[in-house]
Amino acid sequence: MSLKAPAGTQDILPDDVSIWRYVEETARRVFQDYGYREIRTPIFEEGGLFNRSIGEATDIVEKEMYGLTTKSGPTSFILRPELTASVVRAYLEHNLHKDKKFQKLYYLGPLFRHERPQKGRTRQFHQLGVEALGSYDPLVDVEIMGLALAFFNQLGIKGSELKINSIGCPKCRDAYRTALKEELGKVKSDLCEKCRERFDRNVFRILDCKNRQCCVTTKCAPSVKEYLCADCTEHFAVVESTLKENNIKYIFDQHLVRGFDYYTKTVFEITHDSLGSQNALCGGGRYDNLVAELGGPAMGATGFAIGTERTILALMASQAYQPENVTIKVFVVAVDEQTRSDCFSFVRELREQDIPADMDYEGKSLKAQMRLADRLKAKYVVVLGPQEIKQGIVRIKDMADGQEKELKRLEVIKYFKSKG
Ligand code: AMP
Repeated sequence: MSLKAPAGTQDILPDDVSIWRYVEETARRVFQDYGYREIRTPIFEEGGLFNRSIGEATDIVEKEMYGLTTKSGPTSFILRPELTASVVRAYLEHNLHKDKKFQKLYYLGPLFRHERPQKGRTRQFHQLGVEALGSYDPLVDVEIMGLALAFFNQLGIKGSELKINSIGCPKCRDAYRTALKEELGKVKSDLCEKCRERFDRNVFRILDCKNRQCCVTTKCAPSVKEYLCADCTEHFAVVESTLKENNIKYIFDQHLVRGFDYYTKTVFEITHDSLGSQNALCGGGRYDNLVAELGGPAMGATGFAIGTERTILALMASQAYQPENVTIKVFVVAVDEQTRSDCFSFVRELREQDIPADMDYEGKSLKAQMRLADRLKAKYVVVLGPQEIKQGIVRIKDMADGQEKELKRLEVIKYFKSKG
């Protein structure tokens, strides 16, 4: 049996957990400040949900989803490869729209895609995302872009870049698809193998191929802006003017498309240079048809997903994170074997009063216990021996200045509480 974590997954060890918590707590705070409320959905869902939402002709549905098998055979369940579909499913299943149509929701948690692992790309990864369901207002598109940028800003990540595009509605997309096929058809033989395959299946994806040759070849592609219908043009114009009015810097990228079929109108991505080839920190956009496609009423919706692992990589590159010093306040040292049970009760007493305290459980010598207290960065060491117990006192050493003092046992809690 292999004792290694599966390829493309990672353990988050105690030294690394604090940066994860910092990122997650910042997300919760910033998302809530913008009026978003947390929603939690199951890790697995009926597979059909993703086929219907993400789209059959996408990499995720074609080859990246993990199906579940039980002892009695395969099930129809899939480990979630993204969360938008799950959130919309929950929104409809629980009739959240009947209570209040416009709902602003956020989530965080793990996702699963069977991709080729590399830096910034794993098979189990985590996302922090928002979904604003029930509005066609282009201001909501700008709200969530501003929210994602505010989150990176609050974390201290510098140098992230917002790229936006509009991919129109199905009506404009049909016209654009025809035009794109006509132009790219002329240079099809210069495209990479994957893109030649994509030509019939999902021609839009050719536009965001990272292959250098494809990037050059696709320069001849027409701009989607020329094919947008009046409604989509107007929507995108409001998005752009609102971004400008609010001094939110962005780049219009006519090659930006997203890997899901459900997007309509605005799409965006936030990238960071430190990430190498997998440089997207966040992807999002509007998906005005998804709720109806999943059986709900027609309504506008928009959202984004931020990759937690990549956010942590960008945060470390920005050198903006100070690891938190997890220290215990009091380390209780047992002078001999007989006093260990008294030490144990004393540690319990401190903890019950919310004073972080610990002791040795490995039978260490007095000296080794002092060294351990030092390594744990304890602020105070309390020494308990038969003498102290008999006299009802404790000896306290302040580890910052080495000063020692004696206190009556009854005064100890008050003393530590007064010492911040
Ligand atoms: P997507 O759901 O594909 O739009 O991705 C949204 C964000 O999730 C991306 O911008 C990445 O930051 C992150 N992400 C997507 N796929 C992976 C992966 N396989 N490993 C790590 N992060 C990922």
